[in-house]
Amino acid sequence: MARYVYDFTEGGREMADLLGGKGANLAEMTRMGLPVPPGFTVTTEACKVFLATGSEPEGLDREVAARLAALEEAAGRTLGRPDDPLLLSVRSGARFSMPGMMETILDIGLNDESVKGLAKVTGNERFAFDSYRRLVQMFGSTVMGIDSALFEGELARLKRARNAPDDLHLDAADLAGLVGTYQELILRETGEEFPQDPVEQLRRSIHAVFSSWNVERARIYRRREHIPDDLGTAVNVQTMVFGNLGQDSGSGVAFTRDPATGRPGVYGDYLPNAQGEDVVSGIRNAIPLAELQRLDPASYEELCGHMRALEDHYRDLCDIEFTIERGKLWMLQTRVGKRTAEAAFFIAHQLVDEGLISQDEALERVSGEGLARLMFPRFDSESVAEPLAHGIPASPGAAVGAVVFTSAEAVRRAAAGEKVVLVRQETTPDDLPGMVAAQAILTSRGGKTSHAAVVARGMGKVCVCGAEALDVDPAARRFSTNGTTVTEGTVISVDGTQGVVHLGAAPLVDSEVVRYFENHGQPAGEGEQPVVDAVHRLMQQADAVRRLGVRANADTPEDAARARRFGAEGIGLCRTEHMFLGERRRLVEAMILATTDDGRDRALAGLLPLQRQDFVGILEAMDGLPVTIRLLDPPLHEFLPDRTELAVRLAATEAHGDAKDPHEVELLEAVNRMHEENPMLGLRGVRLGLVVPGLVAMQVRAIAEAVAERRKAGGDPRAEIMVPLVDTVEELRIVRAEVERVLSEVSEETGVTVDCPVGTMIELPRAALTAGRIAQEARFFSFGTNDLTQTTWGFSRDDVEAEFFSAYLDQGIFKVSPFETLDREGVGRLIEIAVAEGRATRPDLKIGVCGEHGGDPDSVHFFHGAGLDYVSCSPFRVPVARLEAGRAALEGTQGSDSR
Ligand code: PEP
Ligand code: MG
Repeated sequence: MARYVYDFTEGGREMADLLGGKGANLAEMTRMGLPVPPGFTVTTEACKVFLATGSEPEGLDREVAARLAALEEAAGRTLGRPDDPLLLSVRSGARFSMPGMMETILDIGLNDESVKGLAKVTGNERFAFDSYRRLVQMFGSTVMGIDSALFEGELARLKRARNAPDDLHLDAADLAGLVGTYQELILRETGEEFPQDPVEQLRRSIHAVFSSWNVERARIYRRREHIPDDLGTAVNVQTMVFGNLGQDSGSGVAFTRDPATGRPGVYGDYLPNAQGEDVVSGIRNAIPLAELQRLDPASYEELCGHMRALEDHYRDLCDIEFTIERGKLWMLQTRVGKRTAEAAFFIAHQLVDEGLISQDEALERVSGEGLARLMFPRFDSESVAEPLAHGIPASPGAAVGAVVFTSAEAVRRAAAGEKVVLVRQETTPDDLPGMVAAQAILTSRGGKTSHAAVVARGMGKVCVCGAEALDVDPAARRFSTNGTTVTEGTVISVDGTQGVVHLGAAPLVDSEVVRYFENHGQPAGEGEQPVVDAVHRLMQQADAVRRLGVRANADTPEDAARARRFGAEGIGLCRTEHMFLGERRRLVEAMILATTDDGRDRALAGLLPLQRQDFVGILEAMDGLPVTIRLLDPPLHEFLPDRTELAVRLAATEAHGDAKDPHEVELLEAVNRMHEENPMLGLRGVRLGLVVPGLVAMQVRAIAEAVAERRKAGGDPRAEIMVPLVDTVEELRIVRAEVERVLSEVSEETGVTVDCPVGTMIELPRAALTAGRIAQEARFFSFGTNDLTQTTWGFSRDDVEAEFFSAYLDQGIFKVSPFETLDREGVGRLIEIAVAEGRATRPDLKIGVCGEHGGDPDSVHFFHGAGLDYVSCSPFRVPVARLEAGRAALEGTQGSDSR
């Protein structure tokens, strides 16, 4: 018989799949002996059954009843007892944190009778009716599906009638009246009474939390965070404790270290006389946690002790929610806290120094994505003008965009390609689409733990919150501050690191982490930013443990040199087509247009010295390291003028009665001749070398002569020649013979033995499937996963990404574009086949990848597992690939952190 309910005393953090993160950690804190209000967790399995069948699993009601009875017995009270009710909260809690995305219902057990009992035992009638109206409101909107704005409207109306600036100015009678108004609203909207039976309240609340797994904002959040849709949420049912019982009560949020920078200390917010929800929503501005020391020293000391215990136990930054009920501290939640990239690196490094974790564990706790974030530029503090406003630096980074005031407007403008900054008083979960679409989020209220701050940090978005000087007027679509009014569409700059906002687009400078890499991965010395030290140590660790080599895709000496400074161990792809642009296009044109061997040879001879010089520069920059040079790949018409443009120009000339330029006429003929319906699948890659006489010979000669020149100059050039888009071994055999012929010719002419290994790209399914044969002719393989993804899926990248990828992502056909992260199931399988069969033919076959996936963290892990020798990516991604290659090498070697 399946079991669906676990008491907090029965679980632990290792049960997060079943109990969700919140439930597992509540159980863990209970196990540690921390003061957790008693309760139980309904499992994610129960949720899955509910979502699949529309009703709760058989036996769940009996299990809940039994757990409830045990809770009641321990408390000496029963749920909703009229004279002294036990009250419960019902909260969602999925495997992975989804802050504010799903539902919560508080104060279950209150009804028209027990509210009086609560008033009596607490001696606080106002509090009792405030709790009751919260329950009716939450239940009405969450469980019974009424638009919460209707409740808010009634509340606002009452406040206006009483001239009350905020909720605290409403008295017990006002709130009792409001409960009545809410109940009438529910009856009017649903034809049903608000249920007075506490057990029915509980049962329906559990169902509502199950269902909230699939609300729109939760789905959007999961897609963005790559959280699977089929995990379901657990439901935590817990004894209520109250932070709103007076000035000796309150609620707060705390971090064991600063989640923005990672610095140790006491960080958090506290809101006296409030429930936890009030702190997180940012509705009232909280006070810094440190002030609790003055207000309630005993609780403060106790809290600090629990925070230390949690850090030692979890060996990581924890975030905590707590409530103080009349001087008694209760721990309501903990988890390993979200943090910025900077904090992740800093904390990992520091925990090693503190002896809490090993170097390897530190490496597991950072990510390539975080490193990439640290490499983004920041605002130049020297040259920025007077700030427009100051706020709390909630999520670091620099962002520039046009001001928008609604989530919908952010989405609309972003879809049109505009960069926007979402400006709100505070955000709610309904703003999520706009937050995703925006470059940055700016709010006038709320602290470091407000919804805006937590969600922005989780998404790596720039955020400044609590900029109190901003007077935000969303209806008029403007905000004003210190005499300046900013209307929708105005460009502002948001500095989430400093917590300031500037009018206009502020200038950017390189991040210190980039400066560190530019300095060949050497910290500048004394006074270096702490984050640079942390990055340095973790990079060294990654380099020490990784097995994969990391090369760069580069086709200029400058890019090659930068890649080398960033730690590249060679060039995995030098695309020669980029050398045929600009001025040289004329020579390529001449080659294409040539009608005689002579003409073509002249054009090729013109290109030769230019190509040679390119290669000399690159080989010099990468001296001593392998440089894989790919022969010309794209269809030749890419080097000719645009067909339509040319035709229109000629037609216009004709219409004017002017004489047509014979060269242009000839060009148009060539363009028409070479036009292809599907150039991606047309005359390109190795096929060009096989049909355009002299092309391969010219390129190989340029490479070989460059090698000879470098060798004579005392260098150590290590060129490798790579043939693109091979389908069958026959193609490679013919081209390779030509390559070897030219190599020996040049060797003879120069007196330098030029021996360049010849290899091929594997970027067509047929090549992957016949890799065993192709390896007979190839000294190395390099997977061109861009083309391999296109041809495996039958996707023309440029067409599909714009046309229907968002629809595919929306429908969950894939969670992430296969052009971004390697499709392991399909493309990955071809790679595995090719690796196995290629190596079976040639055991020392060198194998790399040079598609864009070479710099994608998840894909790097796959390539490590598939046994590749190296990945190659753009110079800027080289550090990311190094770091992830190190992390991949650790995977499975110890308790990998699945965060
Ligand atoms: C590839 O196809 O993955 C590749 C590296 O080649 P290109 O992107 O130049 O087609
Ligand atoms: Mg390709």
